Amino acid sequence: MGSPPRPPEVAAREDPAEAGDFAVSALGADGRIQVLAARTTGLCESARRRHDLWPTAAAAVGRVATATALLALPLKDGGSVTVSLSGGGPLGGLVAAARPDGEVRAYALEPHVDLPPRADGKLDVGGAVGRQGLLRVTKDLGLQRPYVGTCPLVSGEIGDDFTAYLLRSEQVPGLVALGVLVGAGARVRSAGGLMVQLLPGAPDDAPERLEANVAALGAVSRAIDAGRRPEELALAVLQGYAPRILARIPLRFRCRCSRARLRRVLAGLPPGELRAMREEDGQAEVVCRFCARRYRFGAEELRALEAAHG
Ligand code: ZN
Repeated sequence: MGSPPRPPEVAAREDPAEAGDFAVSALGADGRIQVLAARTTGLCESARRRHDLWPTAAAAVGRVATATALLALPLKDGGSVTVSLSGGGPLGGLVAAARPDGEVRAYALEPHVDLPPRADGKLDVGGAVGRQGLLRVTKDLGLQRPYVGTCPLVSGEIGDDFTAYLLRSEQVPGLVALGVLVGAGARVRSAGGLMVQLLPGAPDDAPERLEANVAALGAVSRAIDAGRRPEELALAVLQGYAPRILARIPLRFRCRCSRARLRRVLAGLPPGELRAMREEDGQAEVVCRFCARRYRFGAEELRALEAAHG
């Protein structure tokens, strides 16, 4: 009360930094190898700012947001993917959701995590996520039941964990490489990802050659930082397999929460709790976990919700 309200519309506005974020899908070997490559710098920075993520948390959220966006791209319109990852580390858990039109949103249960860097100088994402736990993927394909796949975490570094998930749960051998470079002022300086999938009939030499091609690119975040575009990355990975770029899809951080949706969450609380908020604070503030938007509900609205309980 009395403090100036934080305007939620700031979080809702399109972020110009995200204008440069996009993914490409490409095929090689007559459609038997699929590569998705993305630049996600703007949306990772948007996630960092919205959630006040500290550097290790920003890298973890950015990696899971990038991988989830890539996983959603091949779905049909109206589909969605939700990923949750928890490994017992200080982040508490990560959640991301994405749609095939390029919308993605993500958060960490504990945003204020910053660990000392690893010996190789990289952010210790594995240490922040933890290694004892599961990666869970829920794909809503518009069917009666969503598809749910789970896989034990391999390293908590997220890229390895998605690679293991694809093989174990979807029986698709491949490779997922993710990178988020955090720069001055803890801002996300560059971010991106690659998802390589070997489809039935892929050439026998593909696993080794693709792995070598990916290794030759170096760290994805560094490649993006050096100005390499997603289509260049995809073509470099598919080198030797007659690559074709199929589509280019813009990516952005976007949440579809609404006042009405958060009101329903509030309506689910016991009437006693609603009354306590009304009497003690004169209002209730509900924060969307995915995007950190705040919604305020005044005393009158709380009274109406209490009354609706009968
Ligand atoms: Zn939201």
